Amino acid sequence: MDHSLLHRSHAEALDRRDVLAHARARFNIPSKLIYLDGNSLGPLPSDCAERLTRVVEKQWGNWLISGWNRGWMAAQTEAAEKLARLLGAEPHEVVVCDSTSVNLFKVAVAAARLKPDRSVIVTTDDNFPSDLYILQSAAELLGLTVRTVDPAEVLSAIDDTVAVVSITHVDYRTGAAHDMAGITTAAHDAEAIMVWDLAHSAGVFDLKLSRLGVDLAVGCGYKYLNGGPGAPAFVYANERLHDRLRQPLTGWLGHRDPFAFEAGYDPSPGVRRLVSGTPPVLATTALDAGLDTYSMVTLPMIRAKAMALTDYFIDLVDARLAPYGLEVVSPRDPERRGAQVSLRHDHAYEIVQAAIARNVVGDFRAPNLARFGFAPLYVSFGDVYDAVEQLVNVMAKAEWQMPEFAVRHGVT
Ligand SMILES: *Cc1c(COP(=O)(O)O)cnc(C)c1O
Repeated sequence: MDHSLLHRSHAEALDRRDVLAHARARFNIPSKLIYLDGNSLGPLPSDCAERLTRVVEKQWGNWLISGWNRGWMAAQTEAAEKLARLLGAEPHEVVVCDSTSVNLFKVAVAAARLKPDRSVIVTTDDNFPSDLYILQSAAELLGLTVRTVDPAEVLSAIDDTVAVVSITHVDYRTGAAHDMAGITTAAHDAEAIMVWDLAHSAGVFDLKLSRLGVDLAVGCGYKYLNGGPGAPAFVYANERLHDRLRQPLTGWLGHRDPFAFEAGYDPSPGVRRLVSGTPPVLATTALDAGLDTYSMVTLPMIRAKAMALTDYFIDLVDARLAPYGLEVVSPRDPERRGAQVSLRHDHAYEIVQAAIARNVVGDFRAPNLARFGFAPLYVSFGDVYDAVEQLVNVMAKAEWQMPEFAVRHGVT
C-alpha cells in the first residue's frame, strides 16, 4: 500500500476536498466523540430541540385541537416529500408512519394479496430478525409459506410460485448490499412483487426506486435519516399499484374520507391507504429536522463520500489492525456495501466497549462483529483516522481485556 495513507495528513487532505464537510454543522455531536453508530441511531440535528419546543409550546400549547387544521396533517406529507428525493421516488409514492416492522407487515400482506394464485414469500436467512418474524406472521395469516434462502441463492429461488420477494438491501451485520436492480428484474420476470427493506440504505445510497420500478419498500427514520429514537418509518409504493393495494391494518386515516366516519372501510386513493392511524406530530417534527440535514446535498455526493470513507477505513484496518486479528468482513468492492464496515474478532464485544471508553462509538452484533457506520454528513476522514488510532491503542495495550469491558448491556 501507499504509506502516505498512514499519516494523518492524508485524512486532512481528504477533508479539505470534502464537498460535504460543511454538513457536520447541522448536528450537535458531543465534542471529542467520534460517532460511528449513525447506522443505528443518527445524532441530534442542531435545530431539532428548538423545532420541537415550538411545536410543543406554541402549537400544542396554544393551538390545541385546531392544530390538526393548521398544519399537523400536512407535516406528514412534507416529511414524505423530503424523503421521496432520498429514495428516488415521486412525492406521492411515499408516506411516513408507524415503525419499519409494522410497515413491512402492511406491505408484505398487501403485496401477497396482489398475487392470490401464488403461495410463496422469498426472503434470505440472514435477514434482520424482525423482518423474518413479520414475514412469517404475514405468511401464516394468508396461508403462504416463507422460502428462506441463502443470500447467494435469491435469484434461483424466484419461480412462478412466488408472490413476494422481500429482501433487506443492506445486511445489518456485514454491510453487504444486494443487487437491487438485478433482483428487482428477476422478481418482475417471474411476475412477483418486489419489496425492499431500506433500513440501512436510505440516506447513504443513490436510490432510484421509481426508475427501477421497485414495487414496494419500507425503511427506518432513526438511522441515517437522523429522525430521533423511534422516529416514524416510511413506506414507498409505486404509483402503478396504488389503487390495487389492500393492506391489513385498515385504520381510519387510510380511509378515503376519515371524517365522514362511515361504518365501512373504503381505502383512500393513492399511497395514503397505507396509513393506519393518527400521525405522531412530535415525532414527525423531529424526523423532519432529520430529513433537513440532507437539504442542499445530492445523492451522488452522499454515495461517493460513503464509499470513500469506508474504503479509507478498510485500508487503515488492513494496515494497522489486521496484525491484531481484526478482519474486515464487509465486501471490499465499495459498490457492494453500504456505509458500514464490520470487523470480525472473537472479542468484538469487549473491543467495542473499550473503544467507546476512548470516545469511539461503534456497536457489536452477535456473535463476533464490531460494526462501524460512516454517515457521510458528519463523519470526517480525520474521524476515520483517529478512530483507527484509538482501536490500535485498545489492541496494542490489550485494554479490551479489562474486566469492565466484558459486562454485557441490555441493548448492544
Ligand atoms: C433497524 C431495522 C428495523 C427496525 O425496525 P423497527 O420496527 O423500527 O424496530 C427493521 N428492519 C431492518 C432491516 C432494520 O435494520
